[in-house]
Amino acid sequence: MERVAVYPGSFDPITNGHLDIIRRGMRFFDRMIILIAYNPNKSGLFTVEERTDLIKKVIGDEPRIRIDSSSGLLVDYVKKAGGNVILRGLRAVSDFEYEFQMALINRRLDRDIETVFLMTGYKWFFTSSNLIKEAACHGGSVRGLVPDIVLHRLEEKYSKDRSGTK
Ligand code: ADP
Repeated sequence: MERVAVYPGSFDPITNGHLDIIRRGMRFFDRMIILIAYNPNKSGLFTVEERTDLIKKVIGDEPRIRIDSSSGLLVDYVKKAGGNVILRGLRAVSDFEYEFQMALINRRLDRDIETVFLMTGYKWFFTSSNLIKEAACHGGSVRGLVPDIVLHRLEEKYSKDRSGTK
């Protein structure tokens, strides 16, 4: 059986913590779909198209990885896409409760789909898209925590904001 993992998240934007999970996950799965799961009523810093474009550029030419987006029920997406595993990353204890609830509800919704967790690499313990945005928004350097292209896009976004020319 082909092992296909769906790695869902907001990826607003992709960070080195996400990349670590993707790279390590690819050792266990034949294929991976990175799924930008979005809420149509909420806008992020980057549009879904911008997030897709950044992930594509960062991942490069890797035929076993596909990037997609969805605002629907995750287990429905996984089933339709022919996946059998939901891949998630775990950082601090604070991730655990939410992830535990999500894994249980998803299992209740579809018993054939398992959620698999990878523990964060210690370097990325504090790396979250939200903290990265918070720091970058105030001019703090997030170099080394995100790929260079993401760093440049963040600088572009926030320097426009700061000069008032959105
Ligand atoms: P964030 O929590 O950073 O806003 P996402 O919603 O995009 O990110 O997260 C998608 C998945 O990636 C979640 O399972 C999340 O726990 C995991 N993840 C995010 N950042 C890291 C990290 N630094 N190390 C390990 N896993 C991470």
